[in-house]
Amino acid sequence: MNIKDLASLLREGGAAGAGGAGFPSYAKLSEDADTIILNCAECEPILKLHRQVLEKYAFEITKALSVIADAVGADRVIIAVKKSYKGAVAAVSAAAADYKNFEIKFLPEVYPSGDEVVTIYETTGRVVPPGSIPITVGVTVFNVETVLNVYNILEKNKPVTHKYVTIAGEVKTPKTVYAPIGITFKELIENCAGGMTTSDYAIINGGPMMGGECGIYDTVTKTTNAILVLPREHYIIQRKRADVKIDTRRAMSSCCQCRMCTDLCPRHLLGHPIEPSEFMHAASSGTIRDIEPMLNTAFCCGCGVCELYACGQGLSPRTMIVEYKNALRREGIKPPKSPKTAPVSKVRSFRGVSKERLTARIGLTKYEVDSPLSDESVTSGEYKVKLSQHIGAPSVAAVEAGEHVTAGQVIAKAAESALSVSTHSPADGEVIAVTDKYILIRQEGGK
Ligand code: SF4
Ligand code: SF4
Repeated sequence: MNIKDLASLLREGGAAGAGGAGFPSYAKLSEDADTIILNCAECEPILKLHRQVLEKYAFEITKALSVIADAVGADRVIIAVKKSYKGAVAAVSAAAADYKNFEIKFLPEVYPSGDEVVTIYETTGRVVPPGSIPITVGVTVFNVETVLNVYNILEKNKPVTHKYVTIAGEVKTPKTVYAPIGITFKELIENCAGGMTTSDYAIINGGPMMGGECGIYDTVTKTTNAILVLPREHYIIQRKRADVKIDTRRAMSSCCQCRMCTDLCPRHLLGHPIEPSEFMHAASSGTIRDIEPMLNTAFCCGCGVCELYACGQGLSPRTMIVEYKNALRREGIKPPKSPKTAPVSKVRSFRGVSKERLTARIGLTKYEVDSPLSDESVTSGEYKVKLSQHIGAPSVAAVEAGEHVTAGQVIAKAAESALSVSTHSPADGEVIAVTDKYILIRQEGGK
């Protein structure tokens, strides 16, 4: 299959990154790629989705990877996985044996080995320049579930209507389920994970390091990886709720410029010019020794190592950097075009943040339990399917209230001449409402 045909199928089939920002998959296809990487790092504590999907669907995933590699002309396919994911490693090793250009590379058991800039360096030795995308160094990265979605579109004519989601933390039965897009977190917690084990709860959408707090009536999208229920007073929740003004005042009195945040920053260790300690000095003292640490906030990936692991004073470099970065963007101030870079640090391999230690440090060891994957059908009375589920332009509604729709039918088309993918109905049912934000569908036979 050529790139054009593959791109068209993926755009119409609704394939976008299954996690993270949800970059439309068709837009990643490029003839400049000599290497395709399957990212199965899954480096955030608690999440156990991609390794289980890879174990179960290794044959399908390797087949789709081979189609992608052929279409773009890549001569190398790397499966990036951790040795400790034994089931996934065994399954994918057997499936990959059918392909001459496939190789398995083991990632270190550190956080954030799944940051694609880190994954690319670990598996190819190439450094993506600050502010650039992987194709700059001839690489395209897909995560496991995204590639399974590609397989389903190509081989089963099945568009993206569901998302694997790990439900964990303060729930009776942690699980990874195949959830219809548009179902509420509440229904998944109650109907699939046996309900909560605390009444004083808070919910994180995604992993504990990079996920954000959300409401129980939020709905599953193409990027929902996990629903993590924690006690409201949990350390992680308190840190995510911190007031940036108070953080700044605390930084003024407590930042001792020890540089631990910079020394452990994974992007800094790769030679990128982000220096959280320099930023903290400037932001908290008002004495700007140099404007670069402020502009270089653009090169922070938001991993949270600096504030949730490195800083012994409990300060919040990441939160303050994100606030600052957003302000620069609002003001139209762009990051430097040719930022100064440094060679990869010689001590980088000694400064990896052990995932086990990180999990303990942020108080999550007790929740680090199995969450077995189930493909059993999960249904709801209603589905609130968002029009904007990925980076780029929202899809454009193609149905009206009162219409009957079938599972897999296009309900919103990819926006024309824009980075966008189509959206499909997760079930047979009736369209109840169409707004500029979502389409509400009542399941056939539902309430
Ligand atoms: S680790 Fe904390 S105290 Fe040390 S320089 Fe960074 S923000 Fe300041
Ligand atoms: S969040 Fe902190 S550690 Fe992570 S890239 Fe940004 S500055 Fe570096």
